[in-house]
Amino acid sequence: TPGDRAGGATAAAAGHATRGTAPIIEFRDVEKRFGDNVVLKDLNFHVNKGERVTLIGPSGSGKTTILRLVMTLEEATDGMILIDGDPLTHRIEGGKRVRLSNKEIKKTRTRIGMVFQQFNLFPNMTVIQNITESPIHVLGQSKDEARAKAKDLLHKVGLDDKADAHPSSLSGGQQQRVAIARALAMDPEILLLDEVTSALDPEIVDEVLGILRNIADTTDITMLIVTHEMQFARDVSDRVLMFDGGAIVEDADPHTMFTAPTHDRTKKFLRAVL
Ligand code: ADP
Repeated sequence: TPGDRAGGATAAAAGHATRGTAPIIEFRDVEKRFGDNVVLKDLNFHVNKGERVTLIGPSGSGKTTILRLVMTLEEATDGMILIDGDPLTHRIEGGKRVRLSNKEIKKTRTRIGMVFQQFNLFPNMTVIQNITESPIHVLGQSKDEARAKAKDLLHKVGLDDKADAHPSSLSGGQQQRVAIARALAMDPEILLLDEVTSALDPEIVDEVLGILRNIADTTDITMLIVTHEMQFARDVSDRVLMFDGGAIVEDADPHTMFTAPTHDRTKKFLRAVL
């Protein structure tokens, strides 16, 4: 399949033995409406374990809504989302859609991390407090354990000397690197990246993308990515989904999507952004 690069050199180096074998995210007939505005209708797709899937398409086509649904920041108005085979927010019982308990939803949510366009750091906490907050309070890690892990992650994102700084004293690129470290501190199986470089000055976009490339190369984390950085999408993705009007127009490997797209809407979109 286009998404399976288990035989590829990069995949082998990173140990992606299971890539392409089992869906970790599955959308089944998902509908999302805001009032009368039907943003997603009967949406079906899945992402396999370890896969990196990028969503592209015009503004307003529903890409961010999909990430927010997976993060449970929004809930589908119909259909089901499954994480590793288990319902995320709703199950179907005797033909009826039943919402799970908040406790059940929270349990699944801890397996998923998200990095936002606007960083969303806690402004009243230091960098290291931002990173250790959830590991301590959600995962129950000791303060020492969480701090040691946070220091490792700060090293990984090149911010060893910023542990005790406050977010407001950092540049946008630095804040975004803290946000990446914060997401990774939870050891997520799924990482959602929502236009993480869109709020950054052009000259620091590459430093953030470089860190994400490194994470993609050295981990097995499944990634669902919304980005306008087409070169980045091309480099890290196993599969690219082109959206328009809340529906998948084209689903292809990055080489095909960016050099030989099939659909007119994809061609038109890529002509405008490339
Ligand atoms: P994209 O990420 O592709 O630009 P979005 O998922 O952000 O698209 O938005 C898809 C549609 O959903 C848009 O029409 C947008 O106005 C609408 N939408 C998104 N979030 C909300 C919300 N919280 N309330 C009402 N409408 C929303």
